[in-house]
Amino acid sequence: PRGWIEVVVGSMFSGKTEELIRRLRRAEFARLQIQVFKPIIDKRYNEMAVTSHDLTTIDSLPIHDAEEIWNHLKPGTKVVGIDEGQFFSQNLVQVVQDLADRGIRVIIAGLDTDWQGKPFEPMPTLMAIAESVTKQHAVCVVCGAQASRTQRTSGGDGQVLVGTHDAYEARCRQHFKPEVDKP
Ligand code: ADP
Ligand code: MG
Repeated sequence: PRGWIEVVVGSMFSGKTEELIRRLRRAEFARLQIQVFKPIIDKRYNEMAVTSHDLTTIDSLPIHDAEEIWNHLKPGTKVVGIDEGQFFSQNLVQVVQDLADRGIRVIIAGLDTDWQGKPFEPMPTLMAIAESVTKQHAVCVVCGAQASRTQRTSGGDGQVLVGTHDAYEARCRQHFKPEVDKP
């Protein structure tokens, strides 16, 4: 079995979750056993499933820590999907390496930068070690250009604030500000 690591990054609303679900569905068409994990912190649309902003959905197991994947991994699993990778701690990197070394195809979606435009670990490290990296873009809500940044529009200045349209907008480099930009 050939294990390897695929990373899907981009701003919020860039279609990372849709792309993750698309790849996982195709693995199912190939009759490969899949398992999907997400951080328990992400309860935005659904407590259990991985759900996109367009409400495409796939069953998943919410976990606190990446190491928990080992407690749940089934012997026949060939493809592991992980959404919201940036909400896991740095030990996600070692877990993902070990999964790939065991012959599993691992697909991780997550934000490459935070709301201040800074690299959002562990995604940048995963981008470095992955065999495949896909960088997606949303549409800038100000000008319609390709959006590479996630603008925070409400809330405080902590790195983590789980939200959707209530707290974030997709913006291009020109219209992004590394501060809370209240309308
Ligand atoms: P991500 O996981 O990257 O946050 P999703 O896969 O959950 O993104 O959602 C992508 C969907 O978000 C798009 O198909 C589109 O319907 C919707 N969407 C909402 N706002 C935007 C935007 N500004 N740019 C692009 N897509 C947007
Ligand atoms: Mg997503």
